[in-house]
Amino acid sequence: MRSFTPILALAFSLCSLTACAQNRADSTLHINATDLPRLLLTSTQTIPLDSSQRGTDLPLWYPKWVPGSHAPGGPVHNIAGFAVTDQDGNNLRWSRTPGEVYRFIVHTPQSATEINIEFRYITNQSTSNSHGLDSWGADAIGLISPNTVLVYPEGARDGEWMIETQLTVPEDWQAACALDIDEEADTVASYSYQPVSVRRLVDTPIMLGRYYNMYSLNEEGIDAPPHRLHVFSEMKSQADIHPDVVDAYSKMVTQADRMFGSYPFPSMDILLATTNALPRNGLEHLRTTMNIIPLNTLDELDNLTGWDQMLVPHEYVHAWCGKYRRPEGMATSDFHTPKGTELLWVYEGLTQYLGELLEVRAGLDDLETYRWDLLRRYRGARLTQGREWRPLADTCSASHTLRAGSNNWGSMRRGQDYYFEGALIWMEADAIIRNETDGAKSIEDFCHAFFLAEQPTDEPNPYTREDVIAHLNDVVDYDWEAFIEERVDNVGGKPLTGTVELGYSIQYTNEPPTGPNNARIDPLDARDSLGMSLSSDGTVRTVILGSPADKAGLAPRMRIMGIEGHTWSRQRFADLMETSAASGSIELMTVSGDRINNTTIAYEGGPRYMTLVRDESKPDVLAEIMEPID
Ligand SMILES: [Zn+2]
Repeated sequence: MRSFTPILALAFSLCSLTACAQNRADSTLHINATDLPRLLLTSTQTIPLDSSQRGTDLPLWYPKWVPGSHAPGGPVHNIAGFAVTDQDGNNLRWSRTPGEVYRFIVHTPQSATEINIEFRYITNQSTSNSHGLDSWGADAIGLISPNTVLVYPEGARDGEWMIETQLTVPEDWQAACALDIDEEADTVASYSYQPVSVRRLVDTPIMLGRYYNMYSLNEEGIDAPPHRLHVFSEMKSQADIHPDVVDAYSKMVTQADRMFGSYPFPSMDILLATTNALPRNGLEHLRTTMNIIPLNTLDELDNLTGWDQMLVPHEYVHAWCGKYRRPEGMATSDFHTPKGTELLWVYEGLTQYLGELLEVRAGLDDLETYRWDLLRRYRGARLTQGREWRPLADTCSASHTLRAGSNNWGSMRRGQDYYFEGALIWMEADAIIRNETDGAKSIEDFCHAFFLAEQPTDEPNPYTREDVIAHLNDVVDYDWEAFIEERVDNVGGKPLTGTVELGYSIQYTNEPPTGPNNARIDPLDARDSLGMSLSSDGTVRTVILGSPADKAGLAPRMRIMGIEGHTWSRQRFADLMETSAASGSIELMTVSGDRINNTTIAYEGGPRYMTLVRDESKPDVLAEIMEPID
């Protein structure tokens, strides 16, 4: 949008919308957000009917497969008060398709020239598969995902079916999004946007609230399209973020320019809420990104850590990887055809890797912290027991069944490992490219060619696995097919082999490895030794099948209350690990439900931890990778 002047919310005029529908778009949509602080949106949509749509059963879809969630997770359960009328206000009967809750049937009379669909949308109650594409409200801040407040007729192609949208916001609120304001619109809504395809509208979240600031992220000297950072918060002071953070995000844009070299979008609007009123959240889009992190994370650069630090670069990279270049099976032309997600190890794995490169190169993260996180990632990958039955490819294909995680025996089931393990695969590929070409080439050569955009476009550019392999071979001749097959398709995978290419080795020590800022592997995480990890109160969190803990009958949610005749304590457990080498066993008293058991773990290995050791006989390729590009 071009204008951010506060506009008072006024009553909505249906007449002006109807006129627009007839002249300029296939549908008009008014989103009334004045009740968003009360967790409600009101949607009023008009669809003019052609002769074939009159006197018939007209199928309408509520978006089901919304891009970004990789799941049939459109939050249809949150709509209420769904009603359809004709141009004269007569109620029209509707029904739901048996077995398909997203498909509504409206019974249109011959006399109907248009239908008006109105419903309330109840915000703030997402599922694990709708979290990123849902709508959220609070007292002074909110997020509207347009997919939650619209329907479309069956047969409409998402890139062609045009919608004109108007938005009414609460008094004193402002809204930001990547739609252009229609300056000519005759309306009393707060914002009136130029018509766009339903694909683009669904790809355009709207962030809104009482306190708002905008920052330019274009550094001098780079030939990038306009990049704007829109910051919202429920606190006025928090919408005013630290200059170092703006500087780091600007460097991120510059480093992305070096990484990709071309742009599929004409401008980028990064929406960023720093708030405790809404949960952490993020989703990728082509011309914008949606990011929500807690209060105070943008007060200074050091406050931005972990997931909060990773979020903005990750979603930004998706504009190229996932939105513009998209796996063939995910480039559908509507929101109800199922998507094939088997290439998520590229869509998410490569994005994860490239986003992390931007983090370090832009100064959001540093090499020492990154190396520490890498150790934890290698360790997690090695301890993922589910790889013995489920290849990484299956975590992609079954993606949406895994998003909610697994509290019990999660290692056995696997999660959405294509993110972090996918990133390890791409990091290894980058290291191979560098080593095979004596440092002359890198993943950037792949990115420049694979993501080449001659000009901005809203059309996804689909790719196949063969395209990925061909582009890798264009960079350097290598058996990429076998490389991918071994890591993605084969049971077991090869999650640790990248360490060698990076100039490191995996070793085991008796001392918990330490990282920056006094970080260290918690001795209660005894997965490398006993095959289990514990909470600080002694509750079992994880058990590795076949491990000493498993053989002793321990299971998630049991609690250790006694150790060798003493009450549980963190220190006593750590001490016992030290002496286990001599005794050959560990005596525990455990509680499961209301039963108390004596449990013996047969173990004589002592403390044992995986660590990442620099191999001084080889170049430090990891350090080379993380260098900013001039
Ligand atoms: Zn992602």
